[in-house]
Amino acid sequence: MTLPRSPILVIALCATLVFSACRQADEKAKAPLIAGHASSQVYFGGDILTMAGAEPAYVEALTVRDGRIAFAGSKADALRAAGEGAEQIDLHGHTLLPGFVDAHSHLLNYADSLVQANLNPPPIGDVQSIADLLARMRALKERLKADDSTLLVGQGYDQDFLAEKRHPTAADLDAAFPANPVILVHTSGHMLVANSAALRLAGVTAKTPDPEGGTIIRKAGSREPVGLVQETGMMAFAPLLKAPRDPAVSADLMRRAVEHYASYGVTTAAEHLVVPAQIPVLEAAADRGLLKIDLVAAPIYLMTDTVIGTNKIHWGEYRNGLKYAGIKLTLDGSPQGKTAFLSRPYLTPVPGCRGDCRGFASIPQDEVNRLMLLAYRHHVPVFAHCNGDAAIDSLLEGHRFAERELGETSTDRRTVVIHSQIVRPDQLASYRQYGLIPSFFTNHVYYWGDTHLANLGQERADFLSPLNSALKLGIAATNHTDNIVTPVDPMFLLWTSVTRTTRSGKVLGALEKVTPYDGLRALTINGAHQYFEERTKGSLEAGKLADLVVLDQNPVKVPPEAIARTRVVETIKAGTVIYRTP
Ligand SMILES: [Zn+2]
Repeated sequence: MTLPRSPILVIALCATLVFSACRQADEKAKAPLIAGHASSQVYFGGDILTMAGAEPAYVEALTVRDGRIAFAGSKADALRAAGEGAEQIDLHGHTLLPGFVDAHSHLLNYADSLVQANLNPPPIGDVQSIADLLARMRALKERLKADDSTLLVGQGYDQDFLAEKRHPTAADLDAAFPANPVILVHTSGHMLVANSAALRLAGVTAKTPDPEGGTIIRKAGSREPVGLVQETGMMAFAPLLKAPRDPAVSADLMRRAVEHYASYGVTTAAEHLVVPAQIPVLEAAADRGLLKIDLVAAPIYLMTDTVIGTNKIHWGEYRNGLKYAGIKLTLDGSPQGKTAFLSRPYLTPVPGCRGDCRGFASIPQDEVNRLMLLAYRHHVPVFAHCNGDAAIDSLLEGHRFAERELGETSTDRRTVVIHSQIVRPDQLASYRQYGLIPSFFTNHVYYWGDTHLANLGQERADFLSPLNSALKLGIAATNHTDNIVTPVDPMFLLWTSVTRTTRSGKVLGALEKVTPYDGLRALTINGAHQYFEERTKGSLEAGKLADLVVLDQNPVKVPPEAIARTRVVETIKAGTVIYRTP
Protein backbone atom coordinates (compact mmCIF):
# COMPACT_ATOMS: atom_id res chain seq x y z
CA MET A 1 0.00 0.00 0.00
CA THR A 2 1.25 3.46 -0.81
CA LEU A 3 0.33 5.68 2.09
CA PRO A 4 -1.36 8.94 1.24
CA ARG A 5 0.96 11.94 1.31
CA SER A 6 -1.38 14.80 0.47
CA PRO A 7 -2.03 16.84 3.63
CA ILE A 8 -5.80 16.49 3.39
CA LEU A 9 -5.62 12.74 2.99
CA VAL A 10 -3.08 12.44 5.74
CA ILE A 11 -5.24 14.47 8.09
CA ALA A 12 -8.24 12.39 7.11
CA LEU A 13 -6.56 9.06 7.63
CA CYS A 14 -4.88 10.25 10.81
CA ALA A 15 -8.10 11.40 12.26
CA THR A 16 -9.84 8.08 11.68
CA LEU A 17 -7.13 6.14 13.35
CA VAL A 18 -7.27 8.31 16.42
CA PHE A 19 -10.20 6.22 17.58
CA SER A 20 -7.99 3.44 18.83
CA ALA A 21 -9.80 3.96 22.07
CA CYS A 22 -13.42 4.74 22.47
CA ARG A 23 -15.17 4.29 25.74
CA GLN A 24 -16.61 6.83 28.08
CA ALA A 25 -15.20 6.49 31.52
CA ASP A 26 -17.32 7.36 34.49
CA GLU A 27 -17.84 10.91 35.63
CA LYS A 28 -16.25 10.60 39.03
CA ALA A 29 -13.94 13.58 38.88
CA LYS A 30 -15.83 16.66 39.83
CA ALA A 31 -13.72 18.24 42.56
CA PRO A 32 -11.94 21.36 41.37
CA LEU A 33 -8.17 21.49 41.23
CA ILE A 34 -6.88 23.02 44.43
CA ALA A 35 -3.97 25.38 44.58
CA GLY A 36 -1.17 23.80 46.57
CA HIS A 37 1.45 25.15 48.94
CA ALA A 38 5.04 26.06 48.26
CA SER A 39 8.35 25.33 49.96
CA SER A 40 8.64 22.31 52.31
CA GLN A 41 6.32 19.56 53.48
CA VAL A 42 6.89 16.48 55.61
CA TYR A 43 4.55 13.51 55.14
CA PHE A 44 4.21 10.92 57.92
CA GLY A 45 1.60 8.93 59.81
CA GLY A 46 0.80 6.24 57.23
CA ASP A 47 2.38 3.64 54.99
CA ILE A 48 4.88 5.36 52.71
CA LEU A 49 5.61 2.76 50.06
CA THR A 50 8.67 3.87 48.11
CA MET A 51 8.42 1.48 45.13
CA ALA A 52 12.23 1.46 45.09
CA GLY A 53 13.53 -2.11 44.79
CA ALA A 54 12.12 -5.54 44.00
CA GLU A 55 10.30 -5.96 47.35
CA PRO A 56 7.95 -3.57 49.21
CA ALA A 57 9.95 -1.04 51.25
CA TYR A 58 8.55 1.61 53.57
CA VAL A 59 9.93 4.80 55.11
CA GLU A 60 8.58 6.62 58.15
CA ALA A 61 8.50 10.04 56.54
CA LEU A 62 9.06 11.91 53.30
CA THR A 63 10.33 15.46 52.84
CA VAL A 64 9.27 17.49 49.84
CA ARG A 65 11.07 20.71 49.05
CA ASP A 66 10.43 22.97 46.06
CA GLY A 67 8.49 20.27 44.27
CA ARG A 68 11.08 17.55 44.66
CA ILE A 69 11.64 14.76 47.15
CA ALA A 70 14.41 15.97 49.42
CA PHE A 71 14.51 13.02 51.79
CA ALA A 72 12.90 9.63 52.51
CA GLY A 73 13.60 7.94 55.86
CA SER A 74 13.02 8.52 59.57
CA LYS A 75 10.68 11.27 60.71
CA ALA A 76 13.35 12.99 62.77
CA ASP A 77 15.69 13.19 59.78
CA ALA A 78 12.84 14.18 57.49
CA LEU A 79 11.95 17.14 59.74
CA ARG A 80 15.59 18.13 59.86
CA ALA A 81 15.86 17.92 56.06
CA ALA A 82 12.73 20.08 55.69
CA GLY A 83 14.07 22.95 57.79
CA GLU A 84 12.14 25.37 59.93
CA GLY A 85 8.57 26.24 59.13
CA ALA A 86 7.93 23.13 57.05
CA GLU A 87 4.33 22.03 56.78
CA GLN A 88 3.75 18.74 58.63
CA ILE A 89 1.20 16.52 56.90
CA ASP A 90 -0.24 13.60 58.87
CA LEU A 91 -1.45 10.88 56.51
CA HIS A 92 -3.86 9.63 59.21
CA GLY A 93 -3.25 6.03 58.22
CA HIS A 94 -3.57 6.60 54.49
CA THR A 95 -0.94 5.27 52.08
CA LEU A 96 1.52 7.41 50.14
CA LEU A 97 2.86 6.18 46.80
CA PRO A 98 4.54 7.67 43.74
CA GLY A 99 1.95 9.16 41.36
CA PHE A 100 0.78 6.73 38.69
CA VAL A 101 2.43 6.77 35.28
CA ASP A 102 -0.06 6.09 32.51
CA ALA A 103 1.74 3.76 30.10
CA HIS A 104 -0.87 4.08 27.38
CA SER A 105 -4.19 5.85 27.02
CA HIS A 106 -5.90 8.61 25.06
CA LEU A 107 -6.51 11.71 27.12
CA LEU A 108 -7.80 13.63 24.09
CA ASN A 109 -10.31 10.88 23.30
CA TYR A 110 -11.50 11.14 26.87
CA ALA A 111 -11.95 14.89 26.34
CA ASP A 112 -13.96 14.19 23.15
CA SER A 113 -16.10 11.62 24.97
CA LEU A 114 -17.44 14.37 27.22
CA VAL A 115 -19.60 15.56 24.30
CA GLN A 116 -20.50 12.09 23.00
CA ALA A 117 -23.00 9.45 24.11
CA ASN A 118 -21.75 6.63 26.32
CA LEU A 119 -22.91 3.42 24.63
CA ASN A 120 -20.96 0.99 26.80
CA PRO A 121 -22.57 -2.04 28.40
CA PRO A 122 -22.48 -2.29 32.21
CA PRO A 123 -20.50 -1.60 34.32
CA ILE A 124 -19.13 1.37 32.34
CA GLY A 125 -22.47 2.28 30.76
CA ASP A 126 -25.95 0.80 30.71
CA VAL A 127 -26.60 -0.07 27.07
CA GLN A 128 -27.85 -3.64 26.56
CA SER A 129 -29.85 -3.45 23.35
CA ILE A 130 -30.14 -1.44 20.15
CA ALA A 131 -33.20 0.28 21.64
CA ASP A 132 -31.06 1.42 24.62
CA LEU A 133 -28.44 2.68 22.24
CA LEU A 134 -30.96 4.74 20.27
CA ALA A 135 -32.32 6.16 23.52
CA ARG A 136 -28.81 7.31 24.55
CA MET A 137 -28.35 8.97 21.15
CA ARG A 138 -31.69 10.77 21.48
CA ALA A 139 -30.67 11.94 24.95
CA LEU A 140 -27.38 13.24 23.53
CA LYS A 141 -29.24 15.24 20.90
CA GLU A 142 -31.31 16.82 23.68
CA ARG A 143 -28.31 17.43 25.92
CA LEU A 144 -26.42 19.19 23.12
CA LYS A 145 -29.60 21.04 22.04
CA ALA A 146 -28.62 19.90 18.56
CA ASP A 147 -30.58 20.68 15.39
CA ASP A 148 -31.29 18.14 12.64
CA SER A 149 -28.03 18.82 10.82
CA THR A 150 -25.67 18.27 13.78
CA LEU A 151 -23.44 15.21 13.78
CA LEU A 152 -24.21 12.98 16.78
CA VAL A 153 -21.45 10.66 17.97
CA GLY A 154 -21.74 7.77 20.41
CA GLN A 155 -18.94 5.53 21.53
CA GLY A 156 -18.35 2.27 23.33
CA TYR A 157 -21.01 -0.02 21.84
CA ASP A 158 -20.09 -3.71 21.96
CA GLN A 159 -22.06 -6.09 19.74
CA ASP A 160 -21.31 -9.05 22.01
CA PHE A 161 -23.13 -7.32 24.88
CA LEU A 162 -26.22 -6.21 22.92
CA ALA A 163 -29.32 -8.43 23.22
CA GLU A 164 -29.30 -8.65 19.41
CA LYS A 165 -25.70 -10.01 19.38
CA ARG A 166 -24.89 -8.02 16.25
CA HIS A 167 -23.53 -4.65 15.19
CA PRO A 168 -26.17 -1.93 14.71
CA THR A 169 -26.86 -1.00 11.09
CA ALA A 170 -27.50 2.20 9.16
CA ALA A 171 -31.15 1.09 8.90
CA ASP A 172 -31.44 0.84 12.71
CA LEU A 173 -30.14 4.38 13.02
CA ASP A 174 -32.10 5.83 10.08
CA ALA A 175 -35.40 4.87 11.67
CA ALA A 176 -34.63 7.09 14.68
CA PHE A 177 -32.43 9.69 12.94
CA PRO A 178 -33.58 10.28 9.37
CA ALA A 179 -31.88 13.70 9.21
CA ASN A 180 -28.93 13.94 11.64
CA PRO A 181 -25.69 12.27 10.61
CA VAL A 182 -24.98 9.66 13.32
CA ILE A 183 -21.74 7.76 13.97
CA LEU A 184 -21.34 5.05 16.60
CA VAL A 185 -17.73 4.15 17.39
CA HIS A 186 -17.15 0.57 18.54
CA THR A 187 -15.71 -0.13 21.98
CA SER A 188 -12.39 -1.09 20.38
CA GLY A 189 -12.15 2.20 18.48
CA HIS A 190 -11.22 0.16 15.42
CA MET A 191 -14.60 0.26 13.67
CA LEU A 192 -17.73 2.37 13.47
CA VAL A 193 -21.33 2.29 12.29
CA ALA A 194 -22.72 5.22 10.32
CA ASN A 195 -26.32 6.01 9.35
CA SER A 196 -27.31 6.93 5.80
CA ALA A 197 -26.80 10.67 6.37
CA ALA A 198 -23.27 10.09 7.70
CA LEU A 199 -22.46 7.60 4.90
CA ARG A 200 -23.62 10.23 2.41
CA LEU A 201 -21.51 13.00 3.98
CA ALA A 202 -18.48 10.68 4.04
CA GLY A 203 -19.06 9.70 0.42
CA VAL A 204 -19.19 5.97 1.18
CA THR A 205 -21.41 4.25 -1.40
CA ALA A 206 -21.84 0.94 -3.22
CA LYS A 207 -19.13 2.15 -5.62
CA THR A 208 -16.54 2.81 -2.87
CA PRO A 209 -13.85 0.09 -2.94
CA ASP A 210 -12.57 -1.43 0.33
CA PRO A 211 -9.43 0.49 1.33
CA GLU A 212 -6.20 -1.42 1.98
CA GLY A 213 -6.01 -2.35 5.65
CA GLY A 214 -9.79 -1.96 6.13
CA THR A 215 -13.26 -3.15 5.10
CA ILE A 216 -16.67 -1.70 4.29
CA ILE A 217 -19.24 -4.32 5.27
CA ARG A 218 -21.97 -4.74 2.59
CA LYS A 219 -25.59 -5.90 2.59
CA ALA A 220 -25.93 -9.59 1.67
CA GLY A 221 -25.88 -10.11 -2.10
CA SER A 222 -25.23 -6.41 -2.78
CA ARG A 223 -22.49 -3.76 -2.76
CA GLU A 224 -24.60 -1.38 -0.60
CA PRO A 225 -22.81 -0.48 2.66
CA VAL A 226 -24.65 -1.86 5.68
CA GLY A 227 -23.23 0.89 7.95
CA LEU A 228 -20.27 -0.92 9.59
CA VAL A 229 -16.76 0.01 8.44
CA GLN A 230 -13.52 -1.32 9.94
CA GLU A 231 -9.96 -0.05 10.45
CA THR A 232 -8.85 2.15 7.49
CA GLY A 233 -12.47 1.99 6.30
CA MET A 234 -13.02 4.64 9.00
CA MET A 235 -10.80 7.04 7.04
CA ALA A 236 -13.66 8.61 5.13
CA PHE A 237 -15.38 9.70 8.37
CA ALA A 238 -12.40 11.57 9.76
CA PRO A 239 -13.33 15.02 8.46
CA LEU A 240 -16.67 14.65 10.25
CA LEU A 241 -15.29 13.28 13.50
CA LYS A 242 -12.30 15.55 13.88
CA ALA A 243 -13.70 18.88 12.74
CA PRO A 244 -11.93 21.66 14.70
CA ARG A 245 -13.72 23.00 17.78
CA ASP A 246 -14.03 26.45 19.23
CA PRO A 247 -10.76 26.96 21.18
CA ALA A 248 -12.67 27.83 24.38
CA VAL A 249 -14.61 24.56 24.15
CA SER A 250 -11.38 22.61 23.49
CA ALA A 251 -9.75 24.22 26.52
CA ASP A 252 -12.71 23.41 28.75
CA LEU A 253 -12.74 19.76 27.64
CA MET A 254 -8.99 19.52 28.16
CA ARG A 255 -9.25 20.98 31.67
CA ARG A 256 -11.95 18.46 32.59
CA ALA A 257 -9.93 15.59 31.14
CA VAL A 258 -6.85 16.55 33.16
CA GLU A 259 -8.96 16.80 36.34
CA HIS A 260 -10.39 13.36 35.64
CA TYR A 261 -6.94 11.75 35.32
CA ALA A 262 -5.69 13.60 38.42
CA SER A 263 -8.66 12.30 40.40
CA TYR A 264 -7.33 8.79 39.83
CA GLY A 265 -3.82 9.60 41.02
CA VAL A 266 -2.32 9.82 37.54
CA THR A 267 0.49 12.38 37.49
CA THR A 268 1.84 11.43 34.06
CA ALA A 269 -0.83 10.83 31.43
CA ALA A 270 -0.65 9.66 27.84
CA GLU A 271 -2.11 10.60 24.51
CA HIS A 272 -0.68 7.95 22.24
CA LEU A 273 -2.20 8.77 18.90
CA VAL A 274 -1.96 12.44 18.14
CA VAL A 275 -3.28 13.46 14.71
CA PRO A 276 -2.17 16.68 12.97
CA ALA A 277 -5.36 18.55 13.89
CA GLN A 278 -4.65 17.87 17.58
CA ILE A 279 -1.15 19.36 17.69
CA PRO A 280 -2.53 22.94 18.05
CA VAL A 281 -4.94 21.71 20.75
CA LEU A 282 -2.06 20.22 22.74
CA GLU A 283 0.17 23.23 22.22
CA ALA A 284 -2.60 25.61 23.32
CA ALA A 285 -3.25 23.52 26.45
CA ALA A 286 0.45 23.64 27.35
CA ASP A 287 0.73 27.37 26.63
CA ARG A 288 -2.35 28.16 28.71
CA GLY A 289 -1.05 26.16 31.68
CA LEU A 290 -3.88 23.62 31.53
CA LEU A 291 -1.58 20.62 31.90
CA LYS A 292 -1.51 20.25 35.69
CA ILE A 293 -0.16 16.74 35.11
CA ASP A 294 2.51 15.74 32.62
CA LEU A 295 1.22 14.59 29.25
CA VAL A 296 3.23 12.22 27.08
CA ALA A 297 2.20 12.58 23.44
CA ALA A 298 2.92 10.22 20.56
CA PRO A 299 2.08 11.53 17.07
CA ILE A 300 0.57 9.05 14.62
CA TYR A 301 2.96 7.28 12.22
CA LEU A 302 1.43 9.03 9.21
CA MET A 303 3.18 12.18 10.44
CA THR A 304 6.57 10.45 10.54
CA ASP A 305 8.02 12.17 7.50
CA THR A 306 6.86 15.56 8.77
CA VAL A 307 8.06 15.26 12.34
CA ILE A 308 11.12 12.99 12.32
CA GLY A 309 14.37 14.40 10.96
CA THR A 310 12.79 17.87 10.79
CA ASN A 311 12.54 20.56 13.45
CA LYS A 312 8.73 20.56 13.58
CA ILE A 313 8.64 18.78 16.92
CA HIS A 314 11.03 18.91 19.85
CA TRP A 315 11.32 15.31 21.06
CA GLY A 316 11.90 13.95 24.50
CA GLU A 317 11.58 17.00 26.78
CA TYR A 318 8.68 18.50 28.68
CA ARG A 319 7.58 22.01 27.82
CA ASN A 320 4.77 23.32 30.06
CA GLY A 321 3.79 19.73 30.89
CA LEU A 322 3.82 18.41 27.30
CA LYS A 323 6.39 15.96 25.96
CA TYR A 324 6.49 14.39 22.51
CA ALA A 325 7.85 11.02 23.52
CA GLY A 326 7.83 8.93 20.37
CA ILE A 327 6.02 8.00 17.19
CA LYS A 328 2.88 5.82 17.35
CA LEU A 329 2.60 2.92 14.90
CA THR A 330 -0.65 0.94 14.62
CA LEU A 331 0.12 -2.50 13.23
CA ASP A 332 -3.28 -4.16 13.65
CA GLY A 333 -6.75 -3.88 15.15
CA SER A 334 -8.45 -5.25 18.26
CA PRO A 335 -9.10 -8.82 19.43
CA GLN A 336 -12.67 -8.15 20.57
CA GLY A 337 -13.39 -6.58 17.18
CA LYS A 338 -11.60 -9.59 15.61
CA THR A 339 -9.31 -7.36 13.57
CA ALA A 340 -6.16 -8.11 15.65
CA PHE A 341 -3.67 -9.82 13.29
CA LEU A 342 -3.10 -13.44 14.37
CA SER A 343 -0.94 -16.30 13.13
CA ARG A 344 -3.79 -18.78 13.78
CA PRO A 345 -7.47 -18.09 12.93
CA TYR A 346 -10.27 -16.85 15.17
CA LEU A 347 -12.55 -19.66 16.30
CA THR A 348 -15.82 -17.74 15.77
CA PRO A 349 -17.25 -16.06 12.64
CA VAL A 350 -15.61 -12.75 11.67
CA PRO A 351 -17.72 -10.03 9.95
CA GLY A 352 -16.69 -9.54 6.34
CA CYS A 353 -14.43 -12.64 6.27
CA ARG A 354 -14.91 -16.10 4.82
CA GLY A 355 -12.34 -18.72 5.80
CA ASP A 356 -8.88 -18.45 7.44
CA CYS A 357 -9.93 -15.35 9.37
CA ARG A 358 -6.80 -14.12 11.16
CA GLY A 359 -7.46 -10.38 11.16
CA PHE A 360 -5.12 -8.25 9.10
CA ALA A 361 -2.06 -6.02 9.14
CA SER A 362 -2.71 -2.27 9.15
CA ILE A 363 0.71 -1.35 7.71
CA PRO A 364 2.59 -3.36 5.05
CA GLN A 365 5.94 -4.82 6.16
CA ASP A 366 8.12 -2.66 3.93
CA GLU A 367 6.48 0.46 5.37
CA VAL A 368 6.94 -0.84 8.95
CA ASN A 369 10.61 -1.34 8.12
CA ARG A 370 10.96 2.13 6.62
CA LEU A 371 9.25 3.88 9.54
CA MET A 372 11.26 2.02 12.18
CA LEU A 373 14.53 2.71 10.42
CA LEU A 374 13.71 6.42 10.23
CA ALA A 375 12.70 6.57 13.90
CA TYR A 376 15.72 4.58 15.07
CA ARG A 377 18.09 6.64 12.94
CA HIS A 378 16.87 9.83 14.64
CA HIS A 379 16.62 8.23 18.10
CA VAL A 380 12.89 8.80 18.31
CA PRO A 381 11.25 6.06 20.43
CA VAL A 382 8.61 3.84 18.82
CA PHE A 383 5.25 3.07 20.44
CA ALA A 384 3.79 0.23 18.39
CA HIS A 385 0.20 -0.94 18.82
CA CYS A 386 0.33 -4.72 18.29
CA ASN A 387 -2.46 -6.91 19.67
CA GLY A 388 -2.01 -10.11 17.66
CA ASP A 389 1.08 -12.27 17.45
CA ALA A 390 1.30 -11.82 13.66
CA ALA A 391 1.44 -8.03 14.18
CA ILE A 392 4.16 -8.59 16.80
CA ASP A 393 6.11 -10.71 14.27
CA SER A 394 5.89 -7.79 11.87
CA LEU A 395 7.21 -5.37 14.51
CA LEU A 396 10.07 -7.73 15.41
CA GLU A 397 10.97 -7.95 11.74
CA GLY A 398 10.93 -4.15 11.50
CA HIS A 399 13.14 -3.89 14.56
CA ARG A 400 15.68 -6.38 13.18
CA PHE A 401 15.63 -4.63 9.79
CA ALA A 402 16.29 -1.19 11.29
CA GLU A 403 19.09 -2.39 13.54
CA ARG A 404 20.70 -4.30 10.68
CA GLU A 405 20.58 -1.24 8.43
CA LEU A 406 22.09 0.95 11.16
CA GLY A 407 24.62 -1.67 12.22
CA GLU A 408 23.56 -1.17 15.86
CA THR A 409 22.20 -3.71 18.29
CA SER A 410 23.02 -2.26 21.68
CA THR A 411 21.27 1.12 21.60
CA ASP A 412 18.84 1.66 24.48
CA ARG A 413 15.69 2.37 22.43
CA ARG A 414 12.90 1.11 24.71
CA THR A 415 10.55 0.38 21.82
CA VAL A 416 7.16 -0.18 23.45
CA VAL A 417 4.90 -2.94 22.15
CA ILE A 418 1.53 -1.52 23.19
CA HIS A 419 -1.01 -4.15 24.24
CA SER A 420 1.04 -7.27 23.34
CA GLN A 421 -2.15 -9.06 24.24
CA ILE A 422 -1.81 -12.19 22.14
CA VAL A 423 1.97 -12.42 22.39
CA ARG A 424 3.66 -15.85 22.20
CA PRO A 425 6.30 -17.08 24.70
CA ASP A 426 8.99 -17.06 21.96
CA GLN A 427 8.13 -13.41 21.26
CA LEU A 428 8.55 -12.48 24.93
CA ALA A 429 12.03 -13.99 24.70
CA SER A 430 12.71 -11.76 21.69
CA TYR A 431 11.51 -8.70 23.66
CA ARG A 432 14.05 -9.62 26.32
CA GLN A 433 16.80 -10.10 23.76
CA TYR A 434 16.11 -6.84 21.92
CA GLY A 435 15.20 -4.66 24.89
CA LEU A 436 11.59 -4.14 23.79
CA ILE A 437 9.00 -3.26 26.43
CA PRO A 438 5.53 -4.81 26.43
CA SER A 439 2.83 -2.52 27.78
CA PHE A 440 0.04 -4.96 28.64
CA PHE A 441 -3.69 -4.40 28.96
CA THR A 442 -4.86 -6.72 31.74
CA ASN A 443 -8.26 -4.98 31.96
CA HIS A 444 -9.12 -7.05 28.89
CA VAL A 445 -9.18 -10.13 31.11
CA TYR A 446 -12.13 -8.66 32.97
CA TYR A 447 -13.99 -6.85 30.19
CA TRP A 448 -13.50 -9.29 27.30
CA GLY A 449 -11.90 -12.40 28.87
CA ASP A 450 -15.02 -14.49 28.32
CA THR A 451 -15.24 -13.25 24.72
CA HIS A 452 -11.56 -14.04 24.11
CA LEU A 453 -12.06 -17.54 25.45
CA ALA A 454 -14.71 -18.14 22.77
CA ASN A 455 -12.80 -16.35 19.99
CA LEU A 456 -9.28 -17.61 20.74
CA GLY A 457 -9.59 -20.82 22.79
CA GLN A 458 -8.21 -21.60 26.24
CA GLU A 459 -4.48 -21.62 25.50
CA ARG A 460 -4.33 -18.21 23.82
CA ALA A 461 -6.85 -16.69 26.24
CA ASP A 462 -4.86 -17.90 29.26
CA PHE A 463 -1.72 -16.19 27.93
CA LEU A 464 -3.52 -12.89 27.30
CA SER A 465 -1.34 -9.96 28.50
CA PRO A 466 1.15 -12.25 30.30
CA LEU A 467 2.51 -9.72 32.77
CA ASN A 468 3.90 -12.30 35.18
CA SER A 469 5.86 -14.17 32.48
CA ALA A 470 7.37 -10.92 31.25
CA LEU A 471 8.40 -9.77 34.73
CA LYS A 472 9.92 -13.20 35.42
CA LEU A 473 12.06 -12.77 32.31
CA GLY A 474 13.38 -9.54 33.83
CA ILE A 475 11.45 -7.30 31.43
CA ALA A 476 10.32 -3.96 32.92
CA ALA A 477 6.80 -4.42 31.55
CA THR A 478 4.06 -1.83 32.07
CA ASN A 479 0.27 -2.12 32.21
CA HIS A 480 -2.37 0.28 30.92
CA THR A 481 -6.10 1.02 30.66
CA ASP A 482 -6.15 2.40 27.11
CA ASN A 483 -8.69 4.89 28.46
CA ILE A 484 -11.28 5.41 26.98
CA VAL A 485 -11.37 1.77 25.89
CA THR A 486 -11.54 1.03 29.64
CA PRO A 487 -11.72 3.61 32.47
CA VAL A 488 -8.47 5.23 33.58
CA ASP A 489 -8.68 3.90 37.20
CA PRO A 490 -5.21 2.42 38.05
CA MET A 491 -6.58 0.53 41.08
CA PHE A 492 -9.06 -1.39 38.93
CA LEU A 493 -6.20 -2.09 36.52
CA LEU A 494 -4.09 -3.37 39.41
CA TRP A 495 -6.97 -5.60 40.51
CA THR A 496 -7.26 -7.16 37.03
CA SER A 497 -3.52 -7.91 36.96
CA VAL A 498 -3.62 -9.48 40.45
CA THR A 499 -6.85 -11.51 40.12
CA ARG A 500 -7.29 -12.05 36.35
CA THR A 501 -11.01 -12.47 36.88
CA THR A 502 -13.46 -12.17 33.97
CA ARG A 503 -16.90 -10.54 34.04
CA SER A 504 -18.46 -13.99 34.51
CA GLY A 505 -16.13 -14.70 37.46
CA LYS A 506 -13.72 -17.12 35.74
CA VAL A 507 -9.98 -16.87 36.39
CA LEU A 508 -8.18 -16.55 33.06
CA GLY A 509 -4.52 -17.65 33.06
CA ALA A 510 -3.87 -18.09 36.81
CA LEU A 511 -0.13 -18.38 36.07
CA GLU A 512 -0.13 -14.77 34.86
CA LYS A 513 -1.45 -13.33 38.14
CA VAL A 514 1.06 -10.94 39.70
CA THR A 515 1.59 -9.86 43.28
CA PRO A 516 0.04 -6.46 44.13
CA TYR A 517 3.56 -5.04 44.50
CA ASP A 518 4.67 -6.27 41.07
CA GLY A 519 1.40 -4.96 39.65
CA LEU A 520 2.12 -1.55 41.21
CA ARG A 521 5.64 -1.52 39.77
CA ALA A 522 4.09 -1.81 36.30
CA LEU A 523 2.11 1.38 37.07
CA THR A 524 4.92 3.42 38.63
CA ILE A 525 8.65 2.77 38.24
CA ASN A 526 8.32 0.65 35.09
CA GLY A 527 6.12 3.34 33.56
CA ALA A 528 8.77 5.95 34.32
CA HIS A 529 11.39 3.67 32.75
CA GLN A 530 9.26 3.23 29.63
CA TYR A 531 9.40 7.00 29.10
CA PHE A 532 13.13 7.34 29.98
CA GLU A 533 12.03 9.15 33.16
CA GLU A 534 13.16 6.72 35.86
CA ARG A 535 15.63 9.30 37.17
CA THR A 536 12.83 11.74 37.99
CA LYS A 537 9.70 9.63 38.54
CA GLY A 538 8.29 6.27 39.59
CA SER A 539 9.63 5.88 43.15
CA LEU A 540 9.95 7.90 46.35
CA GLU A 541 13.66 8.65 46.41
CA ALA A 542 15.56 11.84 47.10
CA GLY A 543 16.05 13.98 44.02
CA LYS A 544 12.96 12.79 42.18
CA LEU A 545 9.89 14.91 41.48
CA ALA A 546 7.32 14.99 44.27
CA ASP A 547 4.66 13.35 42.09
CA LEU A 548 2.59 11.60 44.74
CA VAL A 549 -0.71 9.92 45.39
CA VAL A 550 -2.41 9.36 48.75
CA LEU A 551 -4.68 6.29 48.84
CA ASP A 552 -7.30 5.41 51.45
CA GLN A 553 -5.82 1.92 51.88
CA ASN A 554 -2.61 0.09 51.04
CA PRO A 555 -3.20 -2.09 47.96
CA VAL A 556 -0.24 -4.28 48.92
CA LYS A 557 -1.80 -5.15 52.31
CA VAL A 558 -5.52 -5.51 51.58
CA PRO A 559 -7.01 -8.78 50.26
CA PRO A 560 -6.71 -8.95 46.44
CA GLU A 561 -10.48 -8.71 45.93
CA ALA A 562 -10.50 -5.38 47.83
CA ILE A 563 -7.84 -3.69 45.66
CA ALA A 564 -10.33 -2.30 43.15
CA ARG A 565 -12.13 -0.46 45.97
CA THR A 566 -9.01 1.59 46.79
CA ARG A 567 -9.80 5.30 46.50
CA VAL A 568 -7.56 8.29 45.83
CA VAL A 569 -7.54 10.81 48.68
CA GLU A 570 -5.13 13.31 47.19
CA THR A 571 -2.94 13.74 44.12
CA ILE A 572 0.19 15.87 44.22
CA LYS A 573 2.17 16.98 41.15
CA ALA A 574 5.67 18.33 41.74
CA GLY A 575 4.74 19.16 45.34
CA THR A 576 1.44 20.87 44.51
CA VAL A 577 -1.91 19.35 45.49
CA ILE A 578 -3.90 19.10 42.24
CA TYR A 579 -6.74 16.89 43.45
CA ARG A 580 -8.35 16.29 46.80
CA THR A 581 -11.28 13.95 47.29
CA PRO A 582 -14.50 15.95 47.70
ZN1 LIG B 1 -4.82 2.91 22.53
